[in-house]
Amino acid sequence: MVAETKFYDILGVSPGCSDAELKSAYKKGALKHHPDKNAHNPEAAEKFKDLSHAYEVLSDPDKRQLYDQYGEEGLEQGGGGGGGMSAEDLFAQFFGDPFGFAGNGGGLHSQGKRQARTIHHVHKVSLEDIYRGKISKLALQKSVICPKCDGRGSKEGAAIDCPGCQGRGMKFIMRQLAPGMVTRQMAVCPDCQGERKLIRDKDRCKQCMGKKTIIERKVLHVHIDRGIPNGHRIDFRGEGDQMPGMLPGDVQFEIEQKPHPRFQRKDDDLFYQAEIDLLTALAGGTLNIEHLDDRWLTVQILPGEVISPGDVKIIRSQGMPSYRHHNFGNMFVKFDVKFPPRNFNDANALSLLERILPPRRELPPIGDAMAEEVDLEDVDASQQARAHGGATMEDEEEYGHPTGERVQCATQ
Ligand SMILES: [Zn+2]
Ligand SMILES: [Zn+2]
Repeated sequence: MVAETKFYDILGVSPGCSDAELKSAYKKGALKHHPDKNAHNPEAAEKFKDLSHAYEVLSDPDKRQLYDQYGEEGLEQGGGGGGGMSAEDLFAQFFGDPFGFAGNGGGLHSQGKRQARTIHHVHKVSLEDIYRGKISKLALQKSVICPKCDGRGSKEGAAIDCPGCQGRGMKFIMRQLAPGMVTRQMAVCPDCQGERKLIRDKDRCKQCMGKKTIIERKVLHVHIDRGIPNGHRIDFRGEGDQMPGMLPGDVQFEIEQKPHPRFQRKDDDLFYQAEIDLLTALAGGTLNIEHLDDRWLTVQILPGEVISPGDVKIIRSQGMPSYRHHNFGNMFVKFDVKFPPRNFNDANALSLLERILPPRRELPPIGDAMAEEVDLEDVDASQQARAHGGATMEDEEEYGHPTGERVQCATQ
């Protein structure tokens, strides 16, 4: 007599069935309902999950006993609900990759293994380095399988089945609900934390102290190709942490372009703010711009060209190199004109300007209206904010990252 038959019904077997019958029922159902074969049928995906869950419970003698006795509720109370395998992992354990979906990536999932987590690192790069291209050598601290014990944590064969749970990882414990009312519940074995195996202290590997992995420093060469876009990601597959029984993790670098004191970058174009004096703006002169590769660009402003504050000009092909192409973007130059200081010359000398500058603009006619003469005063410090449109402080953008980074620059 069993408490409920739901899981048996899902698999299409009777409660008294053997392990072999269970296994064959699961195989048949899982192959038929696998999502890869039923891309447009969401019901199949649900059915596939249900089959996997039912099989996972019933194929474990302890869980099956619990289920038979108390039904699904018993499993949840027993703490056996968590930590289950995903439906895909269970399937992979049975069949490998029957539909060939793992592709040529080494059949990753066919081993039915999980992958250790990816190590992400934001790598900040100067605009100069992006302009010229470089190889960054980045040192990484990662876990690797202990070479002395091959990830066993001890000499071969020294690990023993946990005596507390007979190597099952789970065990029944007695719990008192009320005086005179005791229940048996399934729980993760406290002796081995569900690992099923134990290593005696004297057998622990001397190199990893039984932890199975050691920390290793590894230097990766990250290619910063000319013109690499901000935010670009570079992957090193399988170069991350190694864990026993898992596929090695990946390392991913995200390129972050550091702010530059002279240039702003927008795609392949560079933007430069040039300040010139009034004389150069009117009568011509030279503008020198320090580029990103030790070159200086020198630009002649012609007499009479007349640069007004805010004018924008373009220097062709002096922007950033295009990523994976051989052309360059442009450099946009936005001009500021620096006016001379107060009283830079006397009134007589200034009157000379009247000879060469265009005449003063005509004033609008006042006609018969009353004209009142008033003075222009300087704005004092307390009125500065109001004078500039009542501007408030802008929020500053935060730069930087949480501490505890695992990657550092080995060399620059
Ligand atoms: Zn145990
Ligand atoms: Zn070891």
